[in-house]
Amino acid sequence: MRAAPFADAVVVAAGSSRRMGGIDKLRADLAGRPILAWSVAAMRAAGSVRDVVVVTGHDRVAELASEPWIRAAGARVIPGGTRRQDSVAAGVRSVDADIVLVHDGARPLVSPALVDRVAHAASDHGAAIPVIAVADSLKRLEGEAVTGVVARDGLGRAQTPQGARRDLLVAAFASFGDGPEVFGDEAELLARAGHRVHAVEGEGRNLKVTHADDLEVVRALANAAVPGVRYATGSDSHPFGPEDGLSLGGIRIDDAPRLSGHSDGDAALHAICDALLAASGMGDLGRLFPAGDPATRGIDSRELLRSVVARIVEAGLRPASIDLTITGARPRLGGARLDRMREAVAGLTGLEAAHVSVKAATGNLSGDPGAGRTIAADALAGVAAR
Ligand code: MG
Repeated sequence: MRAAPFADAVVVAAGSSRRMGGIDKLRADLAGRPILAWSVAAMRAAGSVRDVVVVTGHDRVAELASEPWIRAAGARVIPGGTRRQDSVAAGVRSVDADIVLVHDGARPLVSPALVDRVAHAASDHGAAIPVIAVADSLKRLEGEAVTGVVARDGLGRAQTPQGARRDLLVAAFASFGDGPEVFGDEAELLARAGHRVHAVEGEGRNLKVTHADDLEVVRALANAAVPGVRYATGSDSHPFGPEDGLSLGGIRIDDAPRLSGHSDGDAALHAICDALLAASGMGDLGRLFPAGDPATRGIDSRELLRSVVARIVEAGLRPASIDLTITGARPRLGGARLDRMREAVAGLTGLEAAHVSVKAATGNLSGDPGAGRTIAADALAGVAAR
C-alpha cells in the first residue's frame, strides 16, 4: 500500500541568474520544457509530495501562474522576498504538511526517488539533505596561486531538496532566518538553530544550473534521457512573384519566377526549418525570425536553416533525417534538380545524403499549386540526442 503524501514542496525560483550572462536560467529550454518545469514536475511525481508551491519575484507571480505546466502540476505560485531565505520562509509559511522539502528551481534533473528519500529521512530524523561525496581534491587558492590543500575526508556537497519538519523550520526562521544573518541553505539555518541534519546519498545528475556551462551538461543529460528520435512535420507555401530567380530547396533556378515572401521565398527550406524546430521542441521559424524584421528582409533561406541547425546543436540535439515533398505545377522538377536539392539540404543540416529525401508532386494537382500560382512544401524531420 502506498502511504499518503506527507510532505509539501517549496520550489525556489526567485534568483536573478546573474552568473548566467543575462539568460534567465529557469526559463532556459531543456529538451523542450523550461528548466523550472522539470524541477516542478519532479516534485509533483514524488509519492511523498502533496502540495507544490513555487516562490518567485513579486513581478513574475502572475505570468508564472498562468503557465500551462504550472497548472498541469497543480502548483501554486507565491511572491518571495529579497534574500533566498526570505523566499524560503514565505514558502514554508504558505504550506502546512508535517514535512517541508525546499528545492532549488535550478536543479531540474532531481529524481522523484531522491525527493522521496529526503522526505522519509526528514520524517525519521527531523531534518535531512542529499549529499554527494567530494571526488576532486580541494585546493586553497590565493589569486592564481595554490597555497594549500583541504582534506576532503568528511566533506560533502549539499544538494536539494532539503527536508525538515515544518515546525522546526518555522521556529528556526522566527529565531534566526528573519534577522540579518545570511544562510546559504536550510541545513545551515537548522544547524544554527541547534538541530542535527541527517545526510542521505545525493545524485550525480542532480546538478544546479548556475553558469552557462552547466546548462550544456544538463541538456546533454536531459536529451540522453529522452530516448530515440523525435519526429515532427512542417509545411509552408508561397505565391510566385513577378521577378525571375527561384530559390527552392536550397538551390537557385534562374529561369523560373521567384516566390514572393519576406525572405528569398524558399518555402521548401522554411518547411524543413519548422519541422526541425518542432521536433526539437523549439517553436517555429516565425517565432525565431518574425516576418517584417528588417534584418531578415530578402535573407537567403539557407542562412535561416543554418541558424536553426546551430540552435538545435546548441541544445544538445542533431538532425537525424529529413523527408521533403514539394508540390507545384511549375517549374519542372526532374531528378537532377531534386538531387541538387538533396545535396544542398544534406550540406546545410550536416546529414548524410542517404538521410535526406526530396521528392516533388507536379502533375494532376488541384488548387493554387495546380494552377501554378504557388509552391507548397511539406517536410518531416527527425531529431535525435547528440
Ligand atoms: Mg515561408
